[in-house]
Amino acid sequence: MDRVKETLERKVNDLAQMLLRRDGIVIEKSADHMDELQYASERDLAIQNVDYESAVLREVRSALLRLQNGAYGVCDDCGLAISPKRLKAVPWALYCIQCQETAERQYLSRGECDAELPARAAS
Ligand SMILES: [Zn+2]
Repeated sequence: MDRVKETLERKVNDLAQMLLRRDGIVIEKSADHMDELQYASERDLAIQNVDYESAVLREVRSALLRLQNGAYGVCDDCGLAISPKRLKAVPWALYCIQCQETAERQYLSRGECDAELPARAAS
């Protein structure tokens, strides 16, 4: 479990740094006189990335808390154990693969944009 904690803490640091850097990029770009359309799409992309990274950061922090209170590796929805394979791929996963897929299907069926889904597994 200590290795997991280490991995999660490193991930929190990485994401926090990334978010700090992106903040800098967004501010810097807004001061430039770039082609407006290109600027808008780059800014949208940056904001999307920030949203995604913020969401992952929340998940990783939540996983660290669960590690502390012994709930790590248990699906937050159905309460069943998350498969070790999934935890190896996404150590901060809060949901088992079935619940994650159900959530994604529900989300998509509401006609929302896929890119806005906050809790996607990291690729
Ligand atoms: Zn589940």
